[in-house]
Amino acid sequence: MPKYVYDFTEGNKDLKDLLGGKGANLAEMTNIGLPVPPGFTITTEACRHYLGHGGMPEGLEGEIGEHLAALEERMGKRLGQPDDPLLVSVRSGAKFSMPGMMETVLNIGLNDDSVLGLAKQSGNDRFAWDSYRRLIQMFGKTVLGIDGELFEDAMDDLKGERDDTDLDAADLQRLVETFKGIVRERAGRDFPADPREQMDLAVRAVFDSWNAPRAILYRRQERIPADLGTAVNIVAMVFGNMGPDSGTGVAFTRDPGSGRQGVYGDYLRNAQGEDVVAGIRNTVPLQELETINPAAYRELLDIMATLERHYRDLCDIEFTIERGKLWMLQTRVGKRTAAAAFCIATQLVDEGLIDMDEAVTRVTGDQLAQLMFPRFAATAGNRRLTTGMNASPGAAAGRAVFSSERAVELAGRGEAVILVRRETNPDDLAGMIAAQGVLTSRGGKTSHAAVVARGMGKTCVCGAEELDVDLHARRFTAPGGVVVNEGDVISIDGSTGAVYLGEVPVTASPVAEYFEGEPAEDELVLAVDRIMTHADSVRRLAVRANADTPEDAARARRHGAQGIGLCRTEHMFLGERRRLVEDLILATTEEERQAALDALEPLQTGDFTGIFEAMRGLPVTIRLIDPPLHEFLPDLTDLAVKVALAEERAGEGADDRDRRLLDAVKRLHEQNPMLGLRGVRLGLTIPGLFAMQVRAIATAARRVEGARAEIMIPLVGAVQELEIVREEAERILAEAGVEAAIGTMIEMPRAALTAGQIAEAAEFFSFGTNDLTQMTWGFSRDDVESAFFGKYLDLGVFGVSPFESVDREGVGRLMRIAVEEGRRTRPDLKLGICGEHGGDPDSIHFCHEIGLDYVSCSPFRIPVARLEAGRAALTCAESDTR
Ligand code: PEP
Ligand code: MG
Repeated sequence: MPKYVYDFTEGNKDLKDLLGGKGANLAEMTNIGLPVPPGFTITTEACRHYLGHGGMPEGLEGEIGEHLAALEERMGKRLGQPDDPLLVSVRSGAKFSMPGMMETVLNIGLNDDSVLGLAKQSGNDRFAWDSYRRLIQMFGKTVLGIDGELFEDAMDDLKGERDDTDLDAADLQRLVETFKGIVRERAGRDFPADPREQMDLAVRAVFDSWNAPRAILYRRQERIPADLGTAVNIVAMVFGNMGPDSGTGVAFTRDPGSGRQGVYGDYLRNAQGEDVVAGIRNTVPLQELETINPAAYRELLDIMATLERHYRDLCDIEFTIERGKLWMLQTRVGKRTAAAAFCIATQLVDEGLIDMDEAVTRVTGDQLAQLMFPRFAATAGNRRLTTGMNASPGAAAGRAVFSSERAVELAGRGEAVILVRRETNPDDLAGMIAAQGVLTSRGGKTSHAAVVARGMGKTCVCGAEELDVDLHARRFTAPGGVVVNEGDVISIDGSTGAVYLGEVPVTASPVAEYFEGEPAEDELVLAVDRIMTHADSVRRLAVRANADTPEDAARARRHGAQGIGLCRTEHMFLGERRRLVEDLILATTEEERQAALDALEPLQTGDFTGIFEAMRGLPVTIRLIDPPLHEFLPDLTDLAVKVALAEERAGEGADDRDRRLLDAVKRLHEQNPMLGLRGVRLGLTIPGLFAMQVRAIATAARRVEGARAEIMIPLVGAVQELEIVREEAERILAEAGVEAAIGTMIEMPRAALTAGQIAEAAEFFSFGTNDLTQMTWGFSRDDVESAFFGKYLDLGVFGVSPFESVDREGVGRLMRIAVEEGRRTRPDLKLGICGEHGGDPDSIHFCHEIGLDYVSCSPFRIPVARLEAGRAALTCAESDTR
C-alpha cells in the first residue's frame, strides 16, 4: 500500500511532486534546523485518488491517525483537548504555487470547551474567542460553502465604527454565537464540535478546492497540468494574534521587483497570516520589526541568509512571531519579475553561488518577452492622480472598471481596461486576466493583487491608499477631489507605482532597444546581454526568421537571426499586384498567361534582391507560392452582388472584367480550399508560375554578392510531386549559373511518413507545423480555436492548444519519423521548423531533442528563441548527439 502521509522530518525539497511545494519546503527547513512548527503532509497521490475515486484511499485515515498521535505526543497535548488544546492548520500546497487559489483552514480543534482551555492557557480571553470566530468563519466558507460575506457583514455590524482589534472578548464571544447561527441556517447543520471531524472535513475541502473554478482558470493560465492534485499540510498552530509581541509577515531575500539585495517584506502586528495576504489591514515595512522585536528580526535575517545559500536563489518566506518567538511557516524559491530574474541570475553568478550555465536556465523566454514590452514615454502631459506601490512592472492604459465581470465584458469587446478594486481576491482572477493592468487601494507588495499580477506578467499598482474607491458607485476619488468614473481612461505604471489620468503614450523598453543595437548600459540590459551571450555560446539550434520584406529581414538580423527560414512569397502578390495575379488567373491563351507572368517577374526579382541584400552571407529560404489562388480574387458574394447590380441597372451591362472574374471565382471555388489546389499542386497545374518565381530568385541571387538562396516547395505529399518541380527548377538555375539548395516543407502526415523517399529529392526539410497540426488532428487551423478549443481545454483533451505548442505525441511523433527516415536517406539533410511553433519555448526544446538544425520564428521572437535554444541545450535530458 502506498505511503500517504509524511512527517516533516521525512520529506525534503526534491519531493515536490509528492508533497507539494509547501510540504517539501517545510520538510527541508525542518531538516536544516530552522524553527518550523511540527506537522505532517498528506500526499498529492492521496488527493489524486480522492478526486479520481470520489473517496479517501484505503488506509489513509489510519495513517493520519498515527501521525496525529505522534504530533500530539510531541506537543504534549491532544487535538482540541479541553483544558489545553492542540490546534492545527490544514493548508493546501500543490507542486506549483497557486497563490490563494486553494483552501486553508486555521485553528482546527476549537469548540465550546477547548476555547475556554485556550483562554486559560494563553491567559488571553480575547485571543481565544478571536481564534474561535476565525475558525467558524473559515470553516463555514471553505468547508461548508457558505457565502463569506455573511460572516463579514455580521462582523461589520458588530464593529460599527471600530477597528477589528477594538473588539473585546465579550464582543467576539457574541460573534461566535452569531457565526454558529449562520452555519446552522445556511449549511443546515451545526458547526462540528468534534476536532477530528473538523480536521477530516477540512482535508476533504482542500482536496476539493483543487477543482474550484478559480483554481482551474489559474492552472490554465499558468499552464499547470490539471491532474497533479494538491497535498495537504497539517501543522501545529502558532499564533501571531496573541498580542502586541506577536505578529505575522512575509519577506523576500531580495527585492522581487528589481533583484536588489536587502530587506523586503511586510509585517503585521497582532495578526494571523491571512490578514496580510488579504490586505485587510495595512502592513508596516519589515524593517520596522527591528524596533518592534530586535532579536526576532536578527534571527529572521540570519534565516534568510541561510535559505539563500541553501536554495542558491531568491526565497520568499512566511513567518509568525508568537509572543516574541519566531516560527517559519513557509518558504519557496520566490516568484519575481522578469527584470529581477535576469538581474538575480547574474548577481548569483557574481556571488559564486551558480555558474553561467545555471544562470541561463534560471530565466525563461517568456520573461525575456515581457522585458521587451514598451514602457511609458514622457508622462508630463498627464495629471498624476497618486502613487501607489509598484507591484508588477510594465505600463498599461485603459478604461477604469470596478468589477471582474465588467473587465471581462469590456475586454471581450476589444477594449483595454484597468481593473480597479480596493483589494483583489481569487474571485477576481478572470477580471485580472482580461485587464491590461490592476490597481488596488489597499494591500502591500505581497497582497493577492501583487502576487498574482506578477505571476501573470501583468502591470499592477497596489496599495494606492489615497484613492477612495467606491465599488457600488463604480468610481474612485483621488486627492484634490478628482473623480474617475467607470469608463474613464487611466494609465498605471507598475514600475514606479504612478497612476495617471488619461492615456499616457508608451515607449520602447531598454531591452528591446538593446536588441535593436543600442549598447548595453543599465544593470538589467547588461544582465540580459551576459545571459544571451552565454545562451548563444551553448545552443546547438540555429535561429532563423520568418520574414517576407527587407525591413523584417533587417530587424531579424539585428535581433540575431542566422538566416531566413521562411519567406512567404504570396505576401508579395497583394495590394496593387493583386491585379497582375488576376490577369494570370483570367488568361485564356498562352500569350496572355505569359504576359501576366512577365509582368510579375521583375517585381519578384526586386523583392528577392532586397531580402538577399539585407541577409547578405546568410541563408534565405524562399518558399514558392502556397495559398489557394482564390485568396487573390474578390469575395464570391461581393462580386456576385456587384455584377448583379450592374446588370440590373437599365441599359448598363456589367464590367466585362468583373463578369470574367466572377466566372473564375466560381470555377476556383472549393469546399475545402486548405485541402485543395494550393502549394506544390499549383506549381504542377499552372504552367510557368513556379518557373517565374525560380527565375526571379536566380536573377536576384546573381545580382547580390553573398546571396545564399534556398528554394522551398510547400505542401508536398509525395516525392513525385517534388521531383517534377525540382527538375524544372534545376534547369532554370543551371541556365542562370546560380546554385541554390532545393528542399521541401513537411506539412502533411504523408510527407512525414514517406520522408525517406522525399529526402531523395530534397536537400532540406522545414516542418510546417501549422499545416502539419491541421492535417494530423483534422483541425481547421482557421476555425477550431475560437469554435471549441475552450471546451477542449476545459475537458482536458489537451492542456494547451496544439497550434501553440507542438503536440509531442502525435505531430511530434511524425516529426521524429521524418527526421529519422530523412536522415537515413540523406545524412546531411538540413532540418528546421518554420510553423508558429518555432517561437514557442516548449516546442523549441522539442526541436532540440529530436535533432533539428534550426528553428525559424517571427523577428520579434528571435531573442526568445535564442535563449530557449540555449536553455534546451543545457536542460534537455534527451539531448541529441549531432
Ligand atoms: C506551416 O504550415 O506551418 C507554414 C509555416 O506554412 P503556412 O503557415 O504559410 O501555411
Ligand atoms: Mg503551411
